[in-house]
Amino acid sequence: MNSAVDSCSSEVHTVVVGAGQAGLAAAYYLRRAGVPFVVLDERAAVGEVWAGRYDSLRLFSPAWASNLPGLPWPGRGRRYPTKQEAAAYLRQYAEHFRLPIETGQRVTSVQPAPGGFLVRTAAGRRISTRQLIVCTGPYTAPKVPAFSQSLPPATQQLHSSQYLRPAQISDSGPVAVVGSGNSALQIAADLAAAGQREVFVAFDEKTPAMPNNTAMWVLLLGTGLLQVGRNSVVGRLLRSRPEPVVRQDLRRLRQFPNVHFIGRALHATAAATLQGQRYATPPLSAVIWATGFGPDYSWLQVPGALDPTGQPRHARGLSPVPGLAFLGLPWLHSRRSALMGGAGSDAAYVVASLLKKT
Ligand SMILES: Cc1cc2nc3c(=O)[nH]c(=O)nc-3n(C[C@H](O)[C@H](O)[C@H](O)COP(=O)(O)OP(=O)(O)OC[C@H]3O[C@@H](n4cnc5c(N)ncnc54)[C@H](O)[C@@H]3O)c2cc1C
Repeated sequence: MNSAVDSCSSEVHTVVVGAGQAGLAAAYYLRRAGVPFVVLDERAAVGEVWAGRYDSLRLFSPAWASNLPGLPWPGRGRRYPTKQEAAAYLRQYAEHFRLPIETGQRVTSVQPAPGGFLVRTAAGRRISTRQLIVCTGPYTAPKVPAFSQSLPPATQQLHSSQYLRPAQISDSGPVAVVGSGNSALQIAADLAAAGQREVFVAFDEKTPAMPNNTAMWVLLLGTGLLQVGRNSVVGRLLRSRPEPVVRQDLRRLRQFPNVHFIGRALHATAAATLQGQRYATPPLSAVIWATGFGPDYSWLQVPGALDPTGQPRHARGLSPVPGLAFLGLPWLHSRRSALMGGAGSDAAYVVASLLKKT
């Protein structure tokens, strides 16, 4: 069945918001169930989220551990794909299954309506639906510490989501990268490798580091550690700890003579310096904030869908609001939920559970 909504339709059984890996996995299972649905995405093309990330990005998960349901990655399974390969894989996936995706459709509001929800887009679409699966990604609203405002206007500031390559930094003076995740390490290495510029890394020294290789992935998946439920004893323990970074990336970064680790960033000053737990920087030309993201569900105007902090209320992706579900959130069910290789099993569960109730 071709389940796409034509341009005049105003009703469809299920609307999926977002055509990233979570939305595509949901679409795969909806297609298999024979449910009429449409996927709406604000971007011009599938894969744009990956394509828009920094140029030097390589996945930390190997291709063989990052498959979406029904279509493995092309090429050598043991490689760590580039961002362009990730974008191409998602595009290929959407085309292979001929998924009914409407791009250029930013959802601006979802409100309760008789029998389900009314979805409105910036392009003027109004769609009535019984079910809504929100797959807008965990990385929507960039977060920057409030103390960033103390830096003078002359200091260039970018969030990691805006950083693409070293040439974006207008000045050759010292630069700081703030963050304790893999992106901070990769961006700092990118800047350090590009030239003689001094790079200060505000990285929390307590962050654990893990080797990243085939044996580790076989172990993580084979023991089921990546798949343990969020509320199991092990799941709770893992969630209480900081996310580990890739040990090889940390070691490589420490080897650059122009890289200086200052410890976790504590505050910034009007003299363009950053105070770290261990050291302060000299006056900086630029700061890259690899400090994470928060959710933005301002468009989801459905009472009971969000908790007072703006986070989705859900149990394994299923909202207490009938017909509403979420996919792709960190620890939606397990550590693997926010990874490409975990999108399929969460989507299978959510789609099957939603359909049982309708
Ligand atoms: C730097 C970085 C590196 C990563 N590396 C890896 C890795 O190596 N391996 C791995 O498995 N995971 C990795 N991840 C984590 C994860 O796989 C990705 O973040 C992935 O993009 C999340 O997929 P998603 O489908 O949940 O969300 P997204 O890819 O963010 O897709 C969400 C989609 O929703 C659309 N959208 C958002 N709001 C609206 C709206 N209001 N209306 C319509 N459309 C909307 C967006 O346009 C987008 O296409 C990485 C993440 C980051 C940030």
